[in-house]
Amino acid sequence: MELDREVVKSKYQSTLFRAKLVSAFFIVMLLPNVLNRFFDFEGKLGLGDWDRIWMMLAGLVVFGVFYGLLYKCPQCRKFPGGGWNRCHCKSCGVELRDASE
Ligand SMILES: [Zn+2]
Repeated sequence: MELDREVVKSKYQSTLFRAKLVSAFFIVMLLPNVLNRFFDFEGKLGLGDWDRIWMMLAGLVVFGVFYGLLYKCPQCRKFPGGGWNRCHCKSCGVELRDASE
């Protein structure tokens, strides 16, 4: 089934938007672990070692599920390739967004 080019682009836009949200969520969940050596999360926010580890795992799971199951090309339903600035699907070559944007 061939989708209209504009439909492919708008669907890819929303996929990309979700990808950014998921990445932001992942980073937020990861930060306490990374920054713990500079900032006392346990004393100031009550986030103990295991709380931070569970946060990181939750972030990883959401990130993995999203990229494994939901990050797809609207046309061929395969992984379109990574990167925020991708213009064409690496599987089927469909135009995902305008190259000029
Ligand atoms: Zn494709």
